Amino acid sequence: MAQKTYIVEHLDEELGPWSELEYIAIATESHEAGAQFLLSSLPAAFKVPDALSAVPSFVAENRGVEEISAADKSRVCLLDPSAAKDLAPEDGDNFDVFLFGGILGDDPPRDRTSELRKKGFEGRRLGPKQMTTDTAVRVTRLVVEGKTPLLDVPYVDDPDLKFNEHESTSMPFRYVTDKDGKPIMPKGMVDLIGKDADKAIDDLF
Ligand code: SAM
Repeated sequence: MAQKTYIVEHLDEELGPWSELEYIAIATESHEAGAQFLLSSLPAAFKVPDALSAVPSFVAENRGVEEISAADKSRVCLLDPSAAKDLAPEDGDNFDVFLFGGILGDDPPRDRTSELRKKGFEGRRLGPKQMTTDTAVRVTRLVVEGKTPLLDVPYVDDPDLKFNEHESTSMPFRYVTDKDGKPIMPKGMVDLIGKDADKAIDDLF
């Protein structure tokens, strides 16, 4: 199988700490799987965090995905929550490049993936529920490289993260689960969410 490329088109203005952890997780896992991760459409002044540029196969691109894929758009698959067809293992033969919106999850979803849909890439859905960008890349890799049918990928919806006896937060997304049934999240994410929750509580007083 030809090497797969996962492209996240960065659509937010800045790189917030959540996106940074998501991108580091995508870069690390793609590298371990022998795939390439490309972060496209970065503003000229964008400072790539050291932890990201340290991942050997990571590529930072100022060009947008349309320019990068101008030679053969038909090999690019947009992972699109509104696509008519779900992703299947055979799509690993149909496409070499899998494209995602570099957008933080929002509840309810605002369909910013439409910015990429408008460019005319063929789309595939990963089921009906919104995933974080790193989860969407993880699921795509399991389906197209691991040849696992989408319905067999283990997942949990809206998991509760418990920080202590009194504090917990529900995450309104679908996550892949590990062998213990726990949601897989980027390294450092649970601590970051815990700090954000503390700050929100402090801001109330
Ligand atoms: N709220 C969103 C929006 O405005 O489109 C979804 C953003 S989601 C956090 C980031 C990216 O992950 C999407 O642009 C899409 O590429 C991918 N993604 C997430 N859930 C998906 C699903 N169920 N099917 C296909 N792609 C999905």
